[in-house]
Amino acid sequence: MSRRNLTILGATGTIGVNTLDVVARHPDKFRVVALSGQNQIEKLAIQCRQFQPRYAVVLEADKAATLQTLLRGTSTEVLVGMEALEFVSALPEVDSVMAAIVGAAGLRPALAAARAGKQVLLANKETLVMAGRFFMEAVREHGATLLPIDSEHNAIFQCMPREGSGESRVESRKVLDSPRSTLDSRLPIGVRRILLTASGGPFRTRPVETLKDVTPEEAVAHPNWVMGKKISVDSASMMNKGLEVIEARWLFDARPEQIEVVIHPQSIVHSMVEYLDGSVLAQLSNPDMRTPIAHSLAYPERVEAGVNWLDLAKIGQLTFEAPDFARFPCLKLAYQALAAGGAATAILNAANEVAVAAFLDRRIPYLGIAASLESVLGRLAGLPANSLEDLMAADAAARREAELLVAHAAQK
Ligand code: NDP
Ligand code: MG
Repeated sequence: MSRRNLTILGATGTIGVNTLDVVARHPDKFRVVALSGQNQIEKLAIQCRQFQPRYAVVLEADKAATLQTLLRGTSTEVLVGMEALEFVSALPEVDSVMAAIVGAAGLRPALAAARAGKQVLLANKETLVMAGRFFMEAVREHGATLLPIDSEHNAIFQCMPREGSGESRVESRKVLDSPRSTLDSRLPIGVRRILLTASGGPFRTRPVETLKDVTPEEAVAHPNWVMGKKISVDSASMMNKGLEVIEARWLFDARPEQIEVVIHPQSIVHSMVEYLDGSVLAQLSNPDMRTPIAHSLAYPERVEAGVNWLDLAKIGQLTFEAPDFARFPCLKLAYQALAAGGAATAILNAANEVAVAAFLDRRIPYLGIAASLESVLGRLAGLPANSLEDLMAADAAARREAELLVAHAAQK
């Protein structure tokens, strides 16, 4: 494998740090060209001193000034702003872009990487939830290679048929060529459906009547994974799985009813693909994001990721159960938004970002998250989705609407 040049967006986050951990194990295979961060400027500076990227990007001028001071004497150039994130995602010398910014802010740089025909390692699921149709179109039109980092989608990718899977699969599919409805699907021939596993999070067995008392601390304490706060709350509410159903719809061109969520509390089977002959292929590993990250960094080769080897005898039992939609209304809302099509999933995503932030700030209760999503979806679902601008407008409208609901709840 020739040495790959990387841009890592969101380097200071959980996925970013895990990516740099894998990169550090293979200095002969990977070279960091650009890193980005947002608030953790000292951490970004330490990463820059270790990996010596050509560029470091932050969004705000005052942070750029602090970073510049911290990086005095190094050869790293500090850039600032969304355009700079797009610039480092499209640099000619860059082969692969790890898109690991959290939230809607990750869309533009991920799109820039796709349009530049890069190998896009997509962690930012919000890109597909907001603008799946447009993002997949950019991937196809510009000959980009799309590799999913989300552990479930990475597992599905690995379990899909060989010819037909991987970059050629994504590139060759003509998602947008025919006037098909959003519910048409082109799963590869022979594939019947996707079984998307979910841990069920920290509240899988908690008495439903006590969910109203859930605190941010309880919600971010995931039993199996260490993740950023936002995705941890999403895992507790199972909105994360809802977003992942939408993500799978676009990545694998599946109809909603071809994506079944299965609760698997041990998080060892990361997802499965069922074939017409009754075969079910699964990908198993310890719950450590370095496995999907290493898979995508080295694809189609394999490299060591530093993870513990799987000891099935020690784990003993792998169990599965159906999800309880009454306990997890966010999951149901995601299926509803997917069925509604148009801007509905972008609206859901934006309203969820606002609601989760408000919950983490103790401005709304845990159950207020699902309630505000339902309300915002109900009010805005008909907004147009004919262009990226439409989707950005729907995103902004959903944020405004959700903020109003939060302010209203806070006054009560
Ligand atoms: P974190 O919150 O840990 O990290 C987010 C990264 O994005 C940080 O580098 C942060 O900078 C940066 N960032 C935050 N806001 C902005 C912004 N407005 N503009 C630019 N950069 C910003 O998140 P995770 O690493 O957990 O998740 C990243 C993405 O990967 C998410 O989309 C998530 O859904 C997805 N994902 C994560 C998984 C996991 O196991 N963690 C699993 C599957 C998917 P700073 O920290 O310096 O403020
Ligand atoms: Mg996941």
